[in-house]
Amino acid sequence: MYAMGFDIGSASSKIIILDGEGRIVARQVLGLGIGSSGPKKVLEAALAEAGIRQEDLTFTVATGYGRAKCSLADKNVSEISCHAKGVAARLPGTRTIIDIGGQDAKAIFLDAKGRVEQFFMNDKCAAGTGRFLEVMARVLETSVEEMAALSEKAAQVAAVSSTCTVFAESEVISLLSNDVPRENIIAGVHQSVATKAAGLARRGPCRPPIAMSGGVAQNAGVVKALARELGAEVSVVPDCQTAGAYGAAIYALEEAKRKGVNQG
Ligand code: ADP
Repeated sequence: MYAMGFDIGSASSKIIILDGEGRIVARQVLGLGIGSSGPKKVLEAALAEAGIRQEDLTFTVATGYGRAKCSLADKNVSEISCHAKGVAARLPGTRTIIDIGGQDAKAIFLDAKGRVEQFFMNDKCAAGTGRFLEVMARVLETSVEEMAALSEKAAQVAAVSSTCTVFAESEVISLLSNDVPRENIIAGVHQSVATKAAGLARRGPCRPPIAMSGGVAQNAGVVKALARELGAEVSVVPDCQTAGAYGAAIYALEEAKRKGVNQG
């Protein structure tokens, strides 16, 4: 029995395949999302890693922005439910999840049993998302992978106050032309993302333990800025970028078992 969770995002494609015992037999991430060759490539890589064929998959759950376009999925489940499921499995007891992906940010509030109580989402604007960080990384001649280490060297946090990505980009260019150190500007960019995420978190019952999931949680600069902003400890979910795919795979395994029982 094999169960697959397929998270087709705006910025990346992620797959987790579980065997019948719930063990991870494939984990693949590719920095190419919906509308690209990413989903196809990540599927090929995951099947090869597990040493199985597509026909061997008992059940597949798709999630993420591109989930409706996944023709091989047996079922679609929302990102909210999948992140909640994946985070509750990887960091049991979490009550508040801040998930920042390629083009949206979410605050998800869980009850004591790990069930979704409430959520808030920003998917209308690139500010406060991974895309914002990608745009700023390009202007600052760095990469999203290097931003956290650079921001560690900041003597001050430069103010990046525009609430729009395009205006914030102009603001960063203006700071650079005024010789503000790049590190300080990067710290300001992290602060801007953290301020927006904290705003979402404060709309609901932001209770500890608080955890970050999604690709942006790999940026320790954003995680630190968020903890500062909330005045609380913020953990990073292990293998944060695949939390949604893992949740989808757990749902798929539950369905696969049900299917097995029905057939048996
Ligand atoms: P989606 O599910 O919407 O496709 P992800 O959850 O994969 O998005 O997050 C993508 C974002 O994660 C990117 O826009 C980028 O800002 C950030 N990111 C991806 N990889 C890294 C990394 N190695 N270090 C820091 N940030 C990263």
